[in-house]
Amino acid sequence: MNKLTDYDQERKKIYKQTLGDYDLRYCTECGRLFAYPGYGPNICRDCLNKDQTDFDKVREYLETHDSSLPKTAVDTGVPPKKLYQWVREERLYFKDAEGSGLYCEICGVPITTGRYCRKCKAKLMLKGVKINTDSPSDTIDEKMRFIGNSKK
Ligand SMILES: [Zn+2]
Ligand SMILES: [Zn+2]
Repeated sequence: MNKLTDYDQERKKIYKQTLGDYDLRYCTECGRLFAYPGYGPNICRDCLNKDQTDFDKVREYLETHDSSLPKTAVDTGVPPKKLYQWVREERLYFKDAEGSGLYCEICGVPITTGRYCRKCKAKLMLKGVKINTDSPSDTIDEKMRFIGNSKK
């Protein structure tokens, strides 16, 4: 757990007075303390809005372009890391599993999105394992091609 700065302590106090017992967390995007609504990722409302705007931009772009990940990043101005994160979160899909540079973390077959192949995912879900889609630190393969959710 991060150590609270004086500033955060102060904010925490104010939050408590105005909002009651909110679960306060650090935004994983901008690092600021925010009142967690009790569901969803650890991202503050500002960053969430920006994330949605960026995602819409990329989705629109991919409806008319067949683009690699790095090129998509350049053309839309959205950082490659973010695009990759969306692939891991299954919000974006690569067009082909072959050459996507993504592999199932359990059995190692090439996949188009997320972290596991369909089979392994089904098995995990049966076992009740929560599927974690934190962004990994892997490097990005130049040859990646992907399409948006809408063209699944
Ligand atoms: Zn934020
Ligand atoms: Zn698998």
